[in-house]
Amino acid sequence: MSINYRYIFCSYNLFAFKDSQTQERFNEWRRPSRLKHISAISILTASLYLIFAYITRSFIPADILPLATLVHVYLVPSILILIALLAYFKIRYFLMTFLLIIAPIVAAIGNMLIVSEFEGYTTYQTELYLIIFWVFTVSGLKFIHALLSGLLIYISATLSAYLIYPMNTEAFVLHSFWMIAALSFGILSGYLLESSQKTIFLKKEELEKIAITDKLTGLYNRTMSDKVVKDELEKSKRYGHSFGLMMLDIDYFKNVNDTYGHLVGDDVLVEFTNILKKYTRSTDTLIRWGGEEFIIISLEVDKDGLMTLAEHIRKKVEGHNFKTVGTKTVSIGVTLNKDNDDINSIVQRADQALYKSKNSGRNRSNFLD
Ligand code: GH3
Ligand code: MG
Ligand code: MG
Repeated sequence: MSINYRYIFCSYNLFAFKDSQTQERFNEWRRPSRLKHISAISILTASLYLIFAYITRSFIPADILPLATLVHVYLVPSILILIALLAYFKIRYFLMTFLLIIAPIVAAIGNMLIVSEFEGYTTYQTELYLIIFWVFTVSGLKFIHALLSGLLIYISATLSAYLIYPMNTEAFVLHSFWMIAALSFGILSGYLLESSQKTIFLKKEELEKIAITDKLTGLYNRTMSDKVVKDELEKSKRYGHSFGLMMLDIDYFKNVNDTYGHLVGDDVLVEFTNILKKYTRSTDTLIRWGGEEFIIISLEVDKDGLMTLAEHIRKKVEGHNFKTVGTKTVSIGVTLNKDNDDINSIVQRADQALYKSKNSGRNRSNFLD
């Protein structure tokens, strides 16, 4: 089973996965690391603002110092620290996202108000370009939110260059150029960052699927079987549900390989799997346990229901005309979960029931309590 790259690259567009459930799983997968990232980056940025305020306190003209102090010491660091706390404690996710979109806009407007007030503004404009880059690549915002925040900053910065602090032509042209450069770098890196995360996520999901899937039949493999049985045992202990475990083993399967070769043997296994799929419910879990041994886990059943299902499958297999090899039969061992069961005990019981079916002539099913 190989990774399907075409599927990966076609499954999302600019902002989200085409399938909303995949998007939801992606969000859940990314959230813990995003929250850690956001809390760390917010603390770092708040600290840098405080350092910035300290460094610039003697450069900024006295009449604008109160405004600069308000923005660089109180307003922006406070919002950032609040964001860091919300992210750290994993609370008020929407408020945190809103503040993360707003914080750079507040910082940018603060910058524009401050630089409009004094001559040496050009060296302070670098902050604006950094803010735009921060929004897309550092902040931890989703690309769509970063785009919203970045565009609002860009529009207000361009407008303010006209309205708040009209610049001469050279300054305005260069400022606009740097803003557009920062915005385009930001958009491209923000988009690429998010698409690589999406690609990693899809590959991770595909690898997880490969790890629990049997390559030949497409059923769950033994790794998944342990997990399913463990989960069902836990659920049954908590809620008192019962479930049945059925072990199926194709009779004299070795003869198929010996007579017709392994490839025909593989075909028989696939045909056998199709019979199992056809005659079980969607709530039943089908597992390829080993070579020609299968397990079915059935929920909410009693002994009679299980034995009816087992006999039904047995008869369908017996009546099926397998390609090349003709008739094959299956032996089945059936059991129900018990209060003190663990994985080994329940599987062992089904195996003993199967052994009984084999020993009493094959092509039959047996229940063991
Ligand atoms: P019994 O009725 O006692 O179950 O006899 P059997 O021949 O079915 O049992 P045995 O366990 O001796 O043989 C199982 C065979 O299954 C042996 C092995 O070659 C074959 N086998 C296991 N996995 C595969 C597979 O993936 N493909 C093919 N073609 N054969 C497989
Ligand atoms: Mg076997
Ligand atoms: Mg067999």
